[in-house]
Amino acid sequence: MIGGSYLIYLSKKNNPIPPMNTGYASSIPTTTDITDSKFPGIKISTEISNDPTIPVAVQYPQSTDEDFNLSIQKHIKQVKDNHLKQLNSNKHPSQVVSGELNISFKTYTHHSGLYSFVLNNYSDISGYSNTTEVHTFHFNPDTKKEISIQDIFENDVDRLAAFSSIVRQQLEADDKLKDSLISEQVERHTQPTWSNFQKFAVTDEALLIHFDQNVIASHTAGTPTVTIPLTKINTLIAPDFQIKEEEKEQKKENKPKRVALTFDDGPDPKVTTQILDLLDKYDAKATFFMLGSRVEYYPEIAKSVQKAGHELGNHTWNHPNLVKANTKKIQEEILNTSAIIEEVTGEKATAFRPPYGSFNDIVNEQSGLPLVLWDVDTLDWKHRNPHQLLNYVKQGTQDGSIILMHDIHQSTADGLDAVLSYLKGEGYTFVTVSDLE
Ligand code: ZN
Repeated sequence: MIGGSYLIYLSKKNNPIPPMNTGYASSIPTTTDITDSKFPGIKISTEISNDPTIPVAVQYPQSTDEDFNLSIQKHIKQVKDNHLKQLNSNKHPSQVVSGELNISFKTYTHHSGLYSFVLNNYSDISGYSNTTEVHTFHFNPDTKKEISIQDIFENDVDRLAAFSSIVRQQLEADDKLKDSLISEQVERHTQPTWSNFQKFAVTDEALLIHFDQNVIASHTAGTPTVTIPLTKINTLIAPDFQIKEEEKEQKKENKPKRVALTFDDGPDPKVTTQILDLLDKYDAKATFFMLGSRVEYYPEIAKSVQKAGHELGNHTWNHPNLVKANTKKIQEEILNTSAIIEEVTGEKATAFRPPYGSFNDIVNEQSGLPLVLWDVDTLDWKHRNPHQLLNYVKQGTQDGSIILMHDIHQSTADGLDAVLSYLKGEGYTFVTVSDLE
C-alpha cells in the first residue's frame, strides 16, 4: 500500500494534472448511485460527472447477476473512454465545456421474463459532431440467460433472409422515414447477416430493430426503429416467441378475455404503493378488499387506491371469522369498515369479501353488498415467493376468473409484474369485480 501511494505521489509530482484548457485527465470522475426500478430484479445505475468541464450523465440497468452486470459495465467504460479520447483529440484551446455524454435506456418486457434494454448513447464533441448510438442487452433474471438475434431465429439463415426483406420493406414504407433514408445504406444494413440485426428488442407483440444515427438515414431522422409485429414473422421465430393460435384467434375476434385481480388485507404503505405503480404500468384496474383498522391507520394509502380508479372493497375491521361471531359483532365489523372507507376516500365500498371466505346467511344479509369470493387462490400469504405467484395464476386462470392476492406481502408486489405481463400476453384485460359481473 505504501509503495502504491508513493507511486501516485511521484507521478503527480512529475506529471501534474494539466490545467483545464490544455487537455483532460485519463478518465472521467463520476459518482455512482444505484436505485430500484419498477421492473422486478432490475436496478438502475446512475453515474454523474464530478467534472463540470466534461458533462456526463449515464444510466444503465443492473441485475443480481454478476456476469450480466460486468458486460454492461464493460460497455459503459468503453463508451466513456472513447468519448474522452474524442474530446482530447478535438480539443480547442479556448473552450471550457467541450462536449457531453448522455446514456439513457428503455426497458421492454416479454412474458417469458426476458428484458430487452435499449441504450441510447448520445455523445457530443462540441463544434465537431454529435451522434446517438444504440446498444441493446437482453437478459432474463429468472434463467440468468442472455439472448441474441440468432436465438430468435434459431440460427437459421433462411429465416433471417426472409426477415431481413420484411425489415427493408417496412423501412421503405415508413412515411416518417421515407424522405431521410439513404437507399444504398438501407440496402447494405438490411443484408441478411446476423451482425446487421444485433440491435433489437422483443415484446409480447413485436420485434423491434434499431439503427444508429447517421447509418441508414440522415442525421435529422435520429435513431430509426422498425417495429415488426410477431404475427407477421410467427413462422420464422423460435417457439418461445411465437404467438399461439388461440391468442391469434382471440386477437382476431377482438373479444378480450377478462380477469379481476383482487388484493386483500391492506392498505400497506409500502406494498400497496408498489402494486398501484405496477397496475398503472399495465393500465390495469383491480379491487382492493381493505381492513377498516388499516384504512384508519393509513388513510392516505386508501385514498391513493381510490384516486387511481380501483374498486374499493370491505374486508371487515379486524379480519375475524364471521361465522363464529354474533350478529352485533358482524354488523360492527362491516358497518364501521364501510364508514371509514367512505370517510377517508369519499367513495363507498361496493363489494364485500368475508375473511377466509367464511360466511353464512346472516353474514350475507348484514353486509348489504355483493359478496365476492375467488376462483384462483395464489396462496401468496403461504409461499411468499414472487416466482410461485405466476405459477398459481398460470394454472388456474380462465376468462372471468377472480384472482386472490394480498397487498401486504413484499413477495406479492415482487411477483406481480410477471403476472400482469403474462396475463396481458394471454390477451386478458384487467377489470374490477363489479365490472366482471
Ligand atoms: Zn383476508
